[in-house]
Amino acid sequence: AGLIVSFGEMLIDFVPTVSGVSLAEAPGFLKAPGGARPTCAIAVARLGGRCAFLGKLGDDEFGRMLAAILKENGVDDAGVSFDARARTALAFVTLRADGEREFMFYRNPSADMLLTEAELNLDLIRRAAIFHYGSISLITEPCRSAHLKAMGAAKEAGALLSYDPNLRLPLWPSAAEAREQILSIWDQADIIKVSDVELEFLTGTESVEDEVAMRLWRPSLKLLLVTLGEKGCKYYTKDFHGSVESYAVKQVDTTGAGDAFVGALLGKIVEDQSALQDEKKLRELLRFANACGAITTTKKGAIPSLPTAAEAMQLMGERKPKQTPSEI
Ligand code: ATP
Repeated sequence: AGLIVSFGEMLIDFVPTVSGVSLAEAPGFLKAPGGARPTCAIAVARLGGRCAFLGKLGDDEFGRMLAAILKENGVDDAGVSFDARARTALAFVTLRADGEREFMFYRNPSADMLLTEAELNLDLIRRAAIFHYGSISLITEPCRSAHLKAMGAAKEAGALLSYDPNLRLPLWPSAAEAREQILSIWDQADIIKVSDVELEFLTGTESVEDEVAMRLWRPSLKLLLVTLGEKGCKYYTKDFHGSVESYAVKQVDTTGAGDAFVGALLGKIVEDQSALQDEKKLRELLRFANACGAITTTKKGAIPSLPTAAEAMQLMGERKPKQTPSEI
């Protein structure tokens, strides 16, 4: 199968030892490897695909620990560089009793933010069949320029570009700036995945109706996806659109569900791009991606709960999702 290169920031999440508390109330924290792009890379590898992570870590104990975690999980680390002048990024994250996630970031600046164009492993980027990225790397220089250059190099070499904005509002100077910058690279992607919350943020409309999602559609896109948590996802292509239900599971921690979903999607598309034009194939693929997302919510933490293909197939076999009218 083709290579997926996932570009972005890898960090350590400090997660309270008990659930349902605010950061201030937490009696203690456990460290967990975090960051959407590395999580997505590990999701691809766990499902049997080929994935590399591209980004910069601090030349410190945490940075080396994270690089080792990538390797142990089957992710190519040839694109990982280290910076001795800055630390690996940290985030304190808690799922409060009201279900909202609360983040506190330590990036002042962190090593990932200092990635330069000159440090990019262009050879790796040019080998990518799919180049996947988010928006956090757009916030500050020099990482922003490195991000744009990497995207350009991947596109020029013929890769499909996959964009999952992963809005982290507290990292941006303002909401307006976040919206503007996130949308500034919208026209370059082939595949975009947003969550329902991001759809509402980007369109300024509290609704996930098709007409709202369609505001994020561009002729340059091959596939637009909106994830809806336990409700599954919606898909839009130039020829068809619809929704696919997820599988009922006992949700414990949603961290990483979106990355598992995208990892599953990209891992399948890199094998067979015809799903982008074939609605039946796409729906089958999204059932698999939904199953992967669903399984990830059943255990604490992101990386430990990412499924194997066998686990996803098992869930799909055990529990039939509700049929949509077009299938009956
Ligand atoms: P993240 O929490 O990683 O930021 P996200 O908000 O991008 O994720 P979600 O919509 O929470 O993404 O989840 C991604 C996919 O995982 C959903 O589209 C769905 O298929 C599946 N999923 C998430 N939560 C559940 C759940 N409780 N039950 C079943 N499936 C779920």
